[in-house]
Amino acid sequence: MNFSDIFDVVNIGIVILDNEFKVVHWNRWMQLHSEISAGEITGNTIFDFYPHLKTTRFLRSFKSVMKLNNNVFFTQKPHKYLFPFKPVGSYSVNFDYMRQNCIMGVLRSDKDDSKYVFITVQDVTAQVAYEQTLLELNITDGLTGIYNRRYLENRLNEEFSRYMRNYKPFCLIMLDIDFFKKVNDTYGHTCGDFILRTVASVCLSQLREIDIIARYGGEEFCCILVDTEIEGGVIVAERLRKAVMEHENRFNNQVIGVTISLGVAQMQKGFESPLPLLEKADKALYEAKKSGRNVVIADR
Ligand code: GH3
Ligand code: MG
Ligand code: MG
Repeated sequence: MNFSDIFDVVNIGIVILDNEFKVVHWNRWMQLHSEISAGEITGNTIFDFYPHLKTTRFLRSFKSVMKLNNNVFFTQKPHKYLFPFKPVGSYSVNFDYMRQNCIMGVLRSDKDDSKYVFITVQDVTAQVAYEQTLLELNITDGLTGIYNRRYLENRLNEEFSRYMRNYKPFCLIMLDIDFFKKVNDTYGHTCGDFILRTVASVCLSQLREIDIIARYGGEEFCCILVDTEIEGGVIVAERLRKAVMEHENRFNNQVIGVTISLGVAQMQKGFESPLPLLEKADKALYEAKKSGRNVVIADR
């Protein structure tokens, strides 16, 4: 039986190298994705074509496989790929390179005591894309496209833990659209949804890349401002308030004025969880509503 015929029909890459890194076998899948024919590469070292493989990890794995006859796994998580191949079809939009899971192992010759190393290459780009989509769905608010409450709460827990280690200040802004019920009642729910999306994107555009904005509830949003003291938090909150107030919301040829009220609080020593921070920001927001709306109130 000539098992090697199977090599050319399986949907994975198979490479066989001798003990000097010379290519002995390069299956059809590898030819297809590398655009290098078996004739071209066979007899040359793998580094002649893929110099980037001359890494400590690849060399160490090769040595270990040869010596200990073990298998080594290169998963896409830390390494993304072993061979820089173009992703296939629709995945080329989101991925520069095909994501690969690879296995390296030993092959013994049945004629003499020489050893070879095989590498299998599996295209896992589709799985990675699927995982990323699931992850995004899990942390994104469907209506506005910003983070959801689940993500905000996780991040608050993380920021709280970080704070307990280094006491670097951070702030929370809680904001709520003023008289939002009236928007829905006057212009309809679709318009209300449009305003929610607009407020989210206007606020997002005013924040730094490292800050977090999430939809906390119906028409309520929260921002985490890292490395920020309360004075800085108030400046940002004022900027958000002004930007939302000045933004022209045009829906079905009508211009709808929108304002927000904001409460700001800073993480403090003595808090035993993120909850008191949320409560303080919520209380400040309540004060902002009570004092007439379209204002920023800080809990100092
Ligand atoms: P206030 O200034 O005191 O905040 O008044 P308000 O009318 O904004 O506050 P209230 O909490 O009474 O109303 C919030 C409204 O938000 C009620 C609800 O119908 C609306 N809402 C919540 N989620 C959504 C949503 O996803 N889409 C739309 N269109 N409306 C929503
Ligand atoms: Mg409201
Ligand atoms: Mg509300």
